[in-house]
Amino acid sequence: MRAGAHLSISHGLARTVEEAVRLGCDTLQIFSGNPRGWRRKIINPAEAEEFRLLCGRRGLDPVVVHTPYLINLAAVDQETFRKSLRAFAEDLERARLLGAGLFVTHMGYHRGEGMSAGIKKMARSLGELLKDRPPGGPRVLLENTATAGSSLGHSFPVIGEVMEKSGVADRLYLCLDTCHAFVAGYDVASAAGLDRALAEIGEFIGLEKLKLVHFNDSRFGLASGLDRHHHLGRGKIGLSGLRRIVRHRSLRSLPFIIETPKETPDADSRNLKVLRSLAKGKVRSRGPARKDAKRKAHRA
Ligand SMILES: [Zn+2]
Ligand SMILES: [Zn+2]
Repeated sequence: MRAGAHLSISHGLARTVEEAVRLGCDTLQIFSGNPRGWRRKIINPAEAEEFRLLCGRRGLDPVVVHTPYLINLAAVDQETFRKSLRAFAEDLERARLLGAGLFVTHMGYHRGEGMSAGIKKMARSLGELLKDRPPGGPRVLLENTATAGSSLGHSFPVIGEVMEKSGVADRLYLCLDTCHAFVAGYDVASAAGLDRALAEIGEFIGLEKLKLVHFNDSRFGLASGLDRHHHLGRGKIGLSGLRRIVRHRSLRSLPFIIETPKETPDADSRNLKVLRSLAKGKVRSRGPARKDAKRKAHRA
């Protein structure tokens, strides 16, 4: 397992690498610009090159770029749709410049047009964006999303259908977000639920397409539809569920990125420590860890 965190580039790309190194990351994820706006600053090619070199030297691999939240490749509104296509193409180019190996985008929303219209539109957008892409550059990953509603991303069969209909399925991959899957109704906190989710991915997408895990605990419960990431072991998935995910035979060789809250300066380093200890088997943490230990003791 390679472990990393989503980090801000607000203090410059070089500082972001320093922070990743300080945290002991093997991999990292960034937004290539403001995630909540359409306008992006132009990336200075020299700065991008320095970033690529630093990441290489520090062994940060893969570098993951996450698209801005505003992008909706199934948008009904023409203006939003046009902007989304352009923003996706520009961001993919920025990710290539930054030497990213993986490029993660959320699934779109059909906004009342209905699921099948949304699937068609999202598939067509991806096809147009990727069909003439030259080889090289980052892999494009579709991320499963949390909410039911008009989201196209909360169900693996739907993600699989979008890939298949896009005509560029061979260029599309999957990012599994544990919090999103859980609140969307996949009980990844239990052994049976995790197996079921992975079986669905296997059947409708292909497990070999899974290239990244967003490793987050969840503040809200199973099938709540509410997307609030929580510190590892302190949420509704809990330490024993998270441990099972990290050690799962189909997942353990993938890169794991935490997108957990950062309300204190040491939050990332603590969550990364939990992640590494779950992978290794030694778990020392507050609260849920002790409860787990007690439960085990009772059983024994
Ligand atoms: Zn995520
Ligand atoms: Zn989320």
